[in-house]
Amino acid sequence: ELAGKRALVTGSTSGIGLAVAQALARAGARVMLHGSRPAADAEALRAALAAETGTAPGYLSANLADGAAARGLVEATLEAFGGLDILVNNAGIQHVAAVDAFPDENWAQMLAINVSAVFHTTKAALPGMKAQGWGRIVNIASAHGLVASPFKAPYTATKHAVVGFSKAVALEVAEQGITCNALCPGYVRTPLVDKQVVDQAKVHNLPEERVIREVILAAQPTKRFIEADEVAAFAVFLCSEAARSVTGSAQLIDGAWTAR
Ligand code: NAD
Repeated sequence: ELAGKRALVTGSTSGIGLAVAQALARAGARVMLHGSRPAADAEALRAALAAETGTAPGYLSANLADGAAARGLVEATLEAFGGLDILVNNAGIQHVAAVDAFPDENWAQMLAINVSAVFHTTKAALPGMKAQGWGRIVNIASAHGLVASPFKAPYTATKHAVVGFSKAVALEVAEQGITCNALCPGYVRTPLVDKQVVDQAKVHNLPEERVIREVILAAQPTKRFIEADEVAAFAVFLCSEAARSVTGSAQLIDGAWTAR
């Protein structure tokens, strides 16, 4: 379905990014994996995806807290693949603390990675997409792109920013065969969240099952984690020909979190 398409997925060595990269490759796209660690650390992952899909995936390392490095990541992908059709801005960080106790450096880091990197990669990717008259940009925002939670003010601000940025970009390129959407998941089971379950179970002295239902998934009516593969399937749809009119939107996959 996506055969011949060239894709870059930021933060794709774990969690949602890895699932999206795998799903795009399984749909036939050639995927550039990205992470913050040296290539040797990601080689097993890259080789496994290559063996499974035969799509010749690559891997690049870049620190997205640095704007020049974010632009460089897109430029290196363009050079390696000869073009770029699909950009998935997935890399992101979280830090939970009251606003008046939130460290300045975490605020700056979160803005840089969750927001500024999306600007820099998009800026670098658009000229080629415009020239070829086809492109797909999927920005992994969050339910926190639309609603808020206490102790997550900076994260909520960055994800609202990503939703707004996605809308404006979509308007600019609406007539050029390029779509840009924000994909907004609720709680997704990733290594990051698994660790929270174990930690919270200890703190609350509750079995993990009750921690999931009563503490972590208090806001998510389905009372189960969304699997990364579910988010990945939605991303693949947004990259398809069938989704060519889906643009400028914030797409929810949130287990009815924002329904009330
Ligand atoms: P994760 O920690 O597994 O993935 C985040 C990725 O970002 C990692 O691969 C990491 O290497 C990369 N990254 C972080 N800082 C970087 C930097 N400075 N330079 C380069 N790469 C960097 O977590 P995840 O849950 O898979 O999160 C992926 C995205 O989904 C994030 O944007 C997150 O905000 C969003 N999200 C997650 C959930 C959830 O419940 N897990 C829900 C909604 C949205």
